[in-house]
Amino acid sequence: MTAVTYELIHVCKQTGARLGRVHTPHGSFDTPAFMPVGTQASVKGMSPDELKEVKAGIILGNTYHLYLRPGHELIKRAGGLHRFMNWDRPILTDSGGFQVFSLAKLRDIQEEGVTFQSHIDGSKHFISPEKSMEIQNALGSDIMMAFDECAPYPCDYDYAKKSMEMTTRWAIRCKQAHKNVEKQSLFGIVQGSTYADLRQESAKQLTELDFPGYAIGGLSVGEPGYIMNDILEKTTPLLPTHKPRYLMGVGSPDYLIDGSIRGVDMFDCVLPTRIGRNGTVFTSKGRIIVRDAKYAEDFSPIDTECDCYVCRNFTRGYIRHLFKSKETLGLRLATWHNLRFLLKLMEDIRKAIRNDRLMDFRNDFFRKYGYEMTTGVPLSEEDKP
Ligand SMILES: [Zn+2]
Repeated sequence: MTAVTYELIHVCKQTGARLGRVHTPHGSFDTPAFMPVGTQASVKGMSPDELKEVKAGIILGNTYHLYLRPGHELIKRAGGLHRFMNWDRPILTDSGGFQVFSLAKLRDIQEEGVTFQSHIDGSKHFISPEKSMEIQNALGSDIMMAFDECAPYPCDYDYAKKSMEMTTRWAIRCKQAHKNVEKQSLFGIVQGSTYADLRQESAKQLTELDFPGYAIGGLSVGEPGYIMNDILEKTTPLLPTHKPRYLMGVGSPDYLIDGSIRGVDMFDCVLPTRIGRNGTVFTSKGRIIVRDAKYAEDFSPIDTECDCYVCRNFTRGYIRHLFKSKETLGLRLATWHNLRFLLKLMEDIRKAIRNDRLMDFRNDFFRKYGYEMTTGVPLSEEDKP
């Protein structure tokens, strides 16, 4: 028995989407699930009690950031990441790979691992599959991710193939180095860029390694939505039905719905917290920039259909005022609402799966939100993780 298990509850007859539950040593959460991102052992602006108020079932921590500051050894001495940040529900940690490739300076990728310079102070570091496991074992997350190379987009076929094959060899090393299988589960990551045959080969190699769950990485890195959906359609059917599937770095409402339709169970993204801090909020009729002048005397809630604490108690005009006066409460309230908006969307998706009507739900949601009905639109610069 692995530390983390997946229970399939119902498959939507209209779409094939999965309603399920993931069980971990720190409790269970319903899927499809959205995981708020707690980059530096904190979901920016939100206390653990507030995260429970918006009904977050699981959050994510970033290995790269926690390794650099305050350091995984310190967090281990504090009793692990759950104790350190006082979050008693499940935590997933990424492998550190994505940030090493996107944030760090002067990185050198070799078979053994990656040498890079810290984006904070320029200090030199080395992360290998073994080191990533050492850090994640020290953090004590319920779900750990294998150290992978996230190939850029666009990426030529030969590079994508070599990178995918190295990711498999790194996954084997991660599995061997993982020291705490009773309390933590390690997920493998399917790579292969936008090439269906590489994705299929990656899925085959990783499922042979029998991980307790699988992520689909290297998507939502700038490719158009229809390419992502196409790759998902060709990848998820190859993954075991009795294990969770996690689409990394996806958090816009259209992608959450379209990913669920293609059999994905877990998602994460900094989008709701990042745009919230900039004064942009989700509504059921599309996004608005609440700090804009036109909301100065708008005394309605951000979204009349939202059930969150912010929408029950504050107006657009007040939140706009807070942003204009640089009061930190403004960005907290916008973040709070955005997280609840996405978590409520996931509740609605799960309900629609249970009722075998997720495609009807998608079409209603897209029409109202103002999305194009055919496929997801490409992410804007602001939306990229
Ligand atoms: Zn709200």
